[in-house]
Amino acid sequence: MKIQTNNKKRQITKNGNGNPEPIAGNRGASILGPRNVPIERQNPDSLIAPTTDAGTVPNFKWPFALSHNRVLSGGWARETTTRELPISTEIAGVNMRLKPGGIRELHWHKESEWGYVIKGSCRVSLFDEEGRLFIDDVSAGDLWYFPSGLPHSIQALEDGVEFLLVFDSGDFSENETFLICDWFAHTPREVLAKNFGVDKSAFDALPTDIGHSRYMFAGKVPPSLSEDAPPPPAKQSRQSYTWHMLAQEPTKAPGGSVRITDSRNFSVSKTIAAARIEVEPGAIRELHWHPNADEWQYYLSGQGRMSVFASGGKSRTFDYQAGDVGYVPRDMGHYVENTGDEPLIFLALFRSDHYADVSLAQWMGVLPPELVKAHLNVDDKFIARLPKNEPLVR
Ligand code: MN
Ligand code: MN
Repeated sequence: MKIQTNNKKRQITKNGNGNPEPIAGNRGASILGPRNVPIERQNPDSLIAPTTDAGTVPNFKWPFALSHNRVLSGGWARETTTRELPISTEIAGVNMRLKPGGIRELHWHKESEWGYVIKGSCRVSLFDEEGRLFIDDVSAGDLWYFPSGLPHSIQALEDGVEFLLVFDSGDFSENETFLICDWFAHTPREVLAKNFGVDKSAFDALPTDIGHSRYMFAGKVPPSLSEDAPPPPAKQSRQSYTWHMLAQEPTKAPGGSVRITDSRNFSVSKTIAAARIEVEPGAIRELHWHPNADEWQYYLSGQGRMSVFASGGKSRTFDYQAGDVGYVPRDMGHYVENTGDEPLIFLALFRSDHYADVSLAQWMGVLPPELVKAHLNVDDKFIARLPKNEPLVR
């Protein structure tokens, strides 16, 4: 029996229990042994791949749902790094939630940090190497960029917050950042007293959980920004480390839209370039590749699939849904197709100061037609349809 799944273009054979089976026409057979049906339903292109898939291709998918979740009094955090997704050497990601007033402990790290607010709002601060403080409130669709090594803070406002963090190294770990309490706990009290010019007793009331494990702790919702921030202008940073990505006018194309934020419009973002891409149901982000960096994806809503062409006769198709991470190594060709009934929205992050892509169709459109025809036996009608200006989503 064949019935349609969410993807109207794809037919998955199901057995009497309604479970999908790896059967397509004359190929395949039902599963007799143990199975994990919810995961098989989410990954129909792994259960039975398109016939164009071939060869052994690394894994390009990791759901945050499979990451260890660190749960503390302030909220929770889960990460996707090279430990979870070994191919993701250029970028690591963290999905973090802070309840109202919750504080991500004062810290710094050697990687640069790019943050995107998914829901709610928070106050962020950054202290720069010239001794100036930047402090701002951000909410859904806003982002921040903290250059490597500069200390910063994040505190949820009255509605709480959930955000995505992206770091410019796949080896990053949220559990290895330089924490202020950890340092206090590992400095002799008499040295602390000498450093701050106070008596040792000043540190008698240090929190009992001081050390490496404080990390995200419950706090009081701070007052308004104008009451909370130091008086301007002497100590205020002149540079902005936050950006309203959703306020950007999107580039619209038939089938979707895209917003690109990189150092050309958000000047501090020197190591992370970002695209927020919306693909309408049935539409496809066209065949393309990125010549300058690997692509790290975070799916915000909807569901889709992506085939990655890995050269040498190899290709593999992966299915994604909200909360998943996707990855595409530099130069590997790919598309992203909306296979669901609602808009597919995802963030694409690159370890670069600028966003760049190469469109297969646009390249073919500007080549001498005879050269293209000699490769693919396509006719003049096909050549005439090729674009001269790349539509980002079509
Ligand atoms: Mn950080
Ligand atoms: Mn791409």
